[in-house]
Amino acid sequence: LERVTTPAVTAAAAVPLVTGGERDYANLDHAASAPCLEAVRRAVDEFLPHYASVHRGAGFASQVSTKVYERTRDVLRRFVGARPSDAVVFTRNTTDALNLLARSVPRHTSVVLFDTEHHAALLPWRGPNVRRIPLPNTRLAAVSAVDSALAECPEGPRLVVVTGASNVTGELLPVAEIAAVARRHGARVALDGAQLAPHRPISVRELDVDYVVLSGHKLYAPFGAGALIGRGDWLRAADPYLAGGGATKLVRRDGDGIGVAWHSGVERHEAGSPNTVGVYALGVACEQLAASWDAVAAHERELLERLTRGLAAVPGLAELRLFDGAAERVGTVSFVLDGFEPGWVAAVLSAEYGIGVRDGAFCAHIAVRRLVERNGGEGKQALRVSLGLGTTTEHVDRLVTALRQIVARGARWTYGVVDGRWAP
Ligand code: PMP
Repeated sequence: LERVTTPAVTAAAAVPLVTGGERDYANLDHAASAPCLEAVRRAVDEFLPHYASVHRGAGFASQVSTKVYERTRDVLRRFVGARPSDAVVFTRNTTDALNLLARSVPRHTSVVLFDTEHHAALLPWRGPNVRRIPLPNTRLAAVSAVDSALAECPEGPRLVVVTGASNVTGELLPVAEIAAVARRHGARVALDGAQLAPHRPISVRELDVDYVVLSGHKLYAPFGAGALIGRGDWLRAADPYLAGGGATKLVRRDGDGIGVAWHSGVERHEAGSPNTVGVYALGVACEQLAASWDAVAAHERELLERLTRGLAAVPGLAELRLFDGAAERVGTVSFVLDGFEPGWVAAVLSAEYGIGVRDGAFCAHIAVRRLVERNGGEGKQALRVSLGLGTTTEHVDRLVTALRQIVARGARWTYGVVDGRWAP
């Protein structure tokens, strides 16, 4: 039990990775999903012989799994600097966590958010009291825009939803400032930590936010586990997110119908057999990152500088930015290349250079369209490069060289659309 619940946290300097695939494949798409940490893989390997269904069995494996699962709630609380009283609900991912929160807010809650949010944060909110405000060009104006929107909200519960880091440009949003404004209006704040959590320590208490959501697969754990961490009152008062076993205390016949007593705690939202192994992996990944922030930051800073310097020297390349002036950012950069279709460039980078980037609108259609237009582009799409722990200086240099060569040669290679994608 001790072995599987307290895996050794590796030294901060070098977080060992499974990079996956060919040795020289340059994965520059960490913002979509980050490859599993070697330490996570080893921990999961050790756990696999022991796992069983949680909360349901007296057997040893079930006890071990239950301990692991419950302890991981503490790991997540620590990882985001949560209050001891904060609830942790395990979900499939960030999308799931935000939909759960949207279903749990009291009726008639006013929701304020920027229309540039990722679709996972933009779309789950319903009703007349949802205000999706255009994101202004400066961080200061963004804070004022939230202030004004909140001032117009009717009486009643209020919630601001904001991302920590943009999945399009990597820029950090002024979360603490927005939270301070929200407090003045009696509003709660939900932080979409999907893109921030893999890059920077988050402190719920320092930021003074009420909820944070994140995904394991962006945090160097495998797919399938995420979390909603935050105040438990709305969650405990809400109808269960899923109806089923695990969410109930008692079910019995009630005349011709059925009587159900749901759990009074947040377990009411975790019906069904949970993803014990995924949750464990998520917890191990969080512990690894938490022990390595200095190394993570130094690695990213160096590579991001190299990348932005390199991209600035590519003719016809325009970087997309939410805010005027230099904003603090994580290692994610989107851009358009004058005269080149993003999907075509991505296909060439993959086929000719062994580089994986993302093209399209990154589940943030409104943001990408607006930023592409602002940069004089005509399309609704862009290219995105995102760095991670497995990225090397060679990957960055290869990308910059490739882009320069593509621009120099022009769009003369023969590529066609196969199954909806450009291919040689
Ligand atoms: N929010 C942001 C900012 C994201 O970047 C993403 C993933 N691209 C999500 C939410 C949704 O995450 P998931 O797909 O893991 O649910």
